[in-house]
Amino acid sequence: MADLENFRTSVRSWLEEKAPKGLRGKMGDLLSVYQGGTKTPPPYPESKAWLEMMADKGWTVPSWPKEFGGGGLDKQEAKILNEELTRLKLPPPLTGFGITMIGPTLLQYGTEEQKIKYLPKIVQGEIRWCQGYSEPNAGSDLANIQTKAVVDGDDYLLNGQKIWTSGGDMADWIFMLIRTDPGVKKQIGITFLLVDLRTKGIEIRPIKLISGASIFCEVFFEDVRVPQKNILGRVNGGWEVAKALLGHERTSIASLGSRSVTGKAENPVEAAARKYIGLDQGRLADEVIRNRMAQIQMDESCFQLTVQRNSDNIKAGHRPGPESSIFKVYGTELNQRRQELLLSILGPECLGWDGEGFEKDELELCRTWLRSRGNTIEGGTSEIQLNIIAKQVLGLPDK
Ligand SMILES: Cc1cc2nc3c(=O)[nH]c(=O)nc-3n(C[C@H](O)[C@H](O)[C@H](O)COP(=O)(O)OP(=O)(O)OC[C@H]3O[C@@H](n4cnc5c(N)ncnc54)[C@H](O)[C@@H]3O)c2cc1C
Repeated sequence: MADLENFRTSVRSWLEEKAPKGLRGKMGDLLSVYQGGTKTPPPYPESKAWLEMMADKGWTVPSWPKEFGGGGLDKQEAKILNEELTRLKLPPPLTGFGITMIGPTLLQYGTEEQKIKYLPKIVQGEIRWCQGYSEPNAGSDLANIQTKAVVDGDDYLLNGQKIWTSGGDMADWIFMLIRTDPGVKKQIGITFLLVDLRTKGIEIRPIKLISGASIFCEVFFEDVRVPQKNILGRVNGGWEVAKALLGHERTSIASLGSRSVTGKAENPVEAAARKYIGLDQGRLADEVIRNRMAQIQMDESCFQLTVQRNSDNIKAGHRPGPESSIFKVYGTELNQRRQELLLSILGPECLGWDGEGFEKDELELCRTWLRSRGNTIEGGTSEIQLNIIAKQVLGLPDK
């Protein structure tokens, strides 16, 4: 106990002394999100220094082993670090698929050589990763991927196409699923591969959305030569690795439902209700909205505690399995309900895309609401999660 108190004191004084003043209070600020890599500029002038000082201590991924650059903190120490960061409302120094998806999967399936090669670079934010799972005919039916890999000496030659690759144009490496044996049951002929996006023959085309933004890309592979040593797991054993990674992805997406992820001092729904609806004798003036808010706040609190328990278990070494689908369905739907409630509270003020008639926060809320629609699709749709829960968690028969 005394050790933990000493740990808290030393973390607090280190943060007080070192954490950039310009980033304090920016927790929950969407603009502060930094995914590292060679192509993404730091969002704020201090973001790079903040990343470097935290990475030097391994605190971009506090509970990863020290030997691979992590912080080596136990569950309670990691919680204290988190509390101290929250105290100063500091944004995470680094986010992205490296620390939430491929890193934990490398820890589980990587060879010693792969762990030494990739993990410290992920901790330091030197490589930004993207995910090459989906293809034009392989979304929900992911095992149907067709990107073909043929052995040529020590390498594979890849030909095919990925789609909906989030941040593909900003990433340095892609982790992807390839078809290494077309002659067997589709799940068996898949291999998991790590590919440097600078390799000759790769073309990345951003997909322009109606908003004008491009969060996704198509990635084309034409005779792309990749060393066989970049396989993660076994040849034709990629389906198992892919599912393990999805467990981490779904757990991470689920945290959207937990209110603490916004990190803002005030609950954004309460703040909006106060501003746009107002109080009547100390109570929110609109009874229907009041009831919806109460229900959502109870659901958020229960979910937040459950997520916290799950994340403590993961930090203690538990690997997320099919039960991560429960978190994904509930967390993403809860986030959508919260966004819908904000929309009801703001009314037409939440429907502005640009223009002087809208405040900055209103424009941001409109984008956040629209973005939340994708939450129940990315990482596998809610329908697919319900199928997984039925079959793999509850053990219900197929038909
Ligand atoms: C914001 C966002 C980010 C994404 N980022 C990435 C990324 O970085 N990398 C990547 O590889 N992919 C990414 N994706 C793609 C995502 O994984 C797929 O969109 C998703 O798996 C669904 O596949 P699909 O779009 O082909 O839809 P389809 O598979 O065509 O599904 C269409 C509809 O049919 C339903 N359906 C299909 N099969 C069944 C079934 N068996 N039972 C019940 N209902 C079914 C689905 O639920 C859905 O409603 C992203 C998607 C979004 C929205």
